[in-house]
Amino acid sequence: MKKIFTLGEIVVEIMANQKGQLFTHDGLWKGPFASGAPAIFIDQVAKLDEPAAMISCVGNDGFGELNIKKLADDGVDISHIKVMDDQTTGSAFVTYHEDGSRDFIFNIKNAACALINEDMVSQKILEDCDHLHIMGSSLFSKQILDTAKKAIAIVKQNKGIISFDPNIRKEMLNLPGVKEALLAILQQTDIYLPSESEVTLLADTDNEKQAIDYFLNNGISSIVIKKGNKGASYYSANESFDVQPHLVTEIDPTGAGDCFGGAYVALIHKGFTAKKALTYANACGALAVTKQGPMQGTSTLEQLEKFLQK
Ligand code: ATP
Ligand code: MG
Repeated sequence: MKKIFTLGEIVVEIMANQKGQLFTHDGLWKGPFASGAPAIFIDQVAKLDEPAAMISCVGNDGFGELNIKKLADDGVDISHIKVMDDQTTGSAFVTYHEDGSRDFIFNIKNAACALINEDMVSQKILEDCDHLHIMGSSLFSKQILDTAKKAIAIVKQNKGIISFDPNIRKEMLNLPGVKEALLAILQQTDIYLPSESEVTLLADTDNEKQAIDYFLNNGISSIVIKKGNKGASYYSANESFDVQPHLVTEIDPTGAGDCFGGAYVALIHKGFTAKKALTYANACGALAVTKQGPMQGTSTLEQLEKFLQK
């Protein structure tokens, strides 16, 4: 059976113990939790029993081991995750403010996951890949962008599908080359999964409707917009619809978008219609925010069905 692949950062997340806690003050922290946007995405794909694989690097340390074990236990093919002796697994510290916004300190550029490179993708490695998912957060160096471009070219040549979540933190957007990298991937994208705040980010307009029309006229076949506690929306050339949010108690919003994307892509891969896949993905995102820890929020099909029946 054909596999869904992703490539990008594997990190642990360490979160502030209290709302409003500052990076500049002594304090207590919780973690480590398995994390990394593409890792959460692919874990969710595997949880829905779709064949899933990840290309990445971790250090030969406890943080790497924690992540690899979680991914393997949930069914991800980890054979393309390199464990590097002289490197350290990436990490992200996150603190939440009273208004719900977040700040991050990333140790990613100097970590093992920055060493993902073109030698890690080939026709052989991707021979059974028919869907590749790219996260904008992963494109933080030219080396990784070139790796992503090479993987996309192989998958496209094999008639596979490319999905793309710009998933860009404000800490990253103004770094040199980041916007150009996102635009390069967008050009190759079939399924585009921006957050509401990101819809016009890569368009030449501030108007959401114009941006959507532009994308649909320029090679993107479907757009799924993540709207946090307002649900989600779908657009293609033939149809558009919204799904209404589920009322849940938010414990930890980090990773909801990645779980949502993993569920949507996995279920489209399974043959669900866009409407059904989005209904399940919307439930998956809602369930994800009720769990502490970004990758702890992934769900099985049975859990999603039980939640939707309520
Ligand atoms: P992140 O990048 O932080 O993971 P995101 O912006 O990519 O977030 P969100 O829009 O926050 O993604 O969440 C994805 C989806 O999960 C939403 O479109 C919605 O379906 C569901 N969701 C998220 N937060 C909530 C919530 N508080 N209540 C109900 N559903 C939610
Ligand atoms: Mg996101």
